[in-house]
Amino acid sequence: MKFENMNIEKSVLGSLNDIGFEEPTRIQYESIPIIKKGYDVIGQSETGSGKTAAFGVPLVEKVVKGGKIQALVLAPTRELARQIASDLKKFSRFKKLHIQTVYGGVSIRPQISGLRKAEIVVGTPGRILDHMRRGTMNTSNVKIFVLDEADEMIDMGFIEDIETIEKNIPKNRQTLMFSATMSDSLIRIRDSFTKNAKKIKTKIKVSDDILKQYYRDVNQKTKFSLLVHLIKQEKPGLSIIFCNTRRTVDAVSRNLKDNNVNATALHGGLSQARREKVMEDFHKGITRVLVATDVAARGLDIKNVTHIFNYDIPKDPENYANRIGRTARAGKSGKAISLLSRDDHGSFTRIIKTFSYDIEKMKITNFKVLPFKKYQPNRNRNFRSRRPFRKRFRGKSRRRW
Ligand code: AMP
Repeated sequence: MKFENMNIEKSVLGSLNDIGFEEPTRIQYESIPIIKKGYDVIGQSETGSGKTAAFGVPLVEKVVKGGKIQALVLAPTRELARQIASDLKKFSRFKKLHIQTVYGGVSIRPQISGLRKAEIVVGTPGRILDHMRRGTMNTSNVKIFVLDEADEMIDMGFIEDIETIEKNIPKNRQTLMFSATMSDSLIRIRDSFTKNAKKIKTKIKVSDDILKQYYRDVNQKTKFSLLVHLIKQEKPGLSIIFCNTRRTVDAVSRNLKDNNVNATALHGGLSQARREKVMEDFHKGITRVLVATDVAARGLDIKNVTHIFNYDIPKDPENYANRIGRTARAGKSGKAISLLSRDDHGSFTRIIKTFSYDIEKMKITNFKVLPFKKYQPNRNRNFRSRRPFRKRFRGKSRRRW
């Protein structure tokens, strides 16, 4: 099947040709016709499966130039919002639609003026709600409402914001909801937001042939040394090292630098400007090793990531699936290596039970033991100012990451 046989509007088809998309991925093949027909959709699919175009192509087709805000896309993180917006811009290149991103951490004024001419808005729930309350965003004409990575938005404590947003947009709209998992809160939202929704599910697992997964038991004291050894041995193209906390991210990235590995930290404690710079450098390959927390790297589409290292094992198995989904994207191969010390075994067992992954034990001979300095948490100007907790996190259960 080719996109040209899917009855896609000419201008959008032209954009797809331009970016080299010829054949739809499975989720695109299944979703596009249904969304075109106007059905609500509940999509469950793996990261890297082409989800953005699955909803983005029909969305861009349906939106009319100059017709006020017609599509509202919610995403859990600013990075994901930017990425979705960038993809939608590519799909609508010939249609010349105005796509406005809306998220916190940056000045609100350019967003206000952008919103006046926008036809599509992509943003995080908090700032979108902020604009709605200020009256700077007219949602009376919204006909498509998209919730991407809905489970993650709920985990981050956005549920009330999302429900308030939904109450303030037209009821006779089309709702497209994507989520890797379905919690009870999500089922509540799903049932109240959608009507006769079609369910689309593609396999959550990345194919074992292109993504090889390994683990290696290691003493906590020598974990860092093993990481350095693996980086030197594996010679990754681009790699992401995942840690469970910001503090570990900072400590690991600084110690890597001490060992001449040019690593950069990415987590939610950094200023928005700093995060954008880190991502840009990683996209360009200026930084080749990113040390990150889960949420900071979630949903990101970075090509050519060859290696994922799990310095800690995530407590939630879904996070493991998301981490390894950063590599082996769009048909390219990749390796995920998990370093297991005593504290990680419980989490690792949960992962194996949840996904029945094929994770091989990695054989490693001796490696050099290096010192690991305990750096104090960074308080430099790249970090967000310490606003009162309540102001920053309105949702009670919003996770700090
Ligand atoms: P996504 O799951 O939307 O983040 O997409 C994952 C990756 O696959 C991105 O790099 C897309 O550019 C790429 N991609 C999505 N759809 C297609 C397609 N039909 N043909 C080729 N590449 C695609």
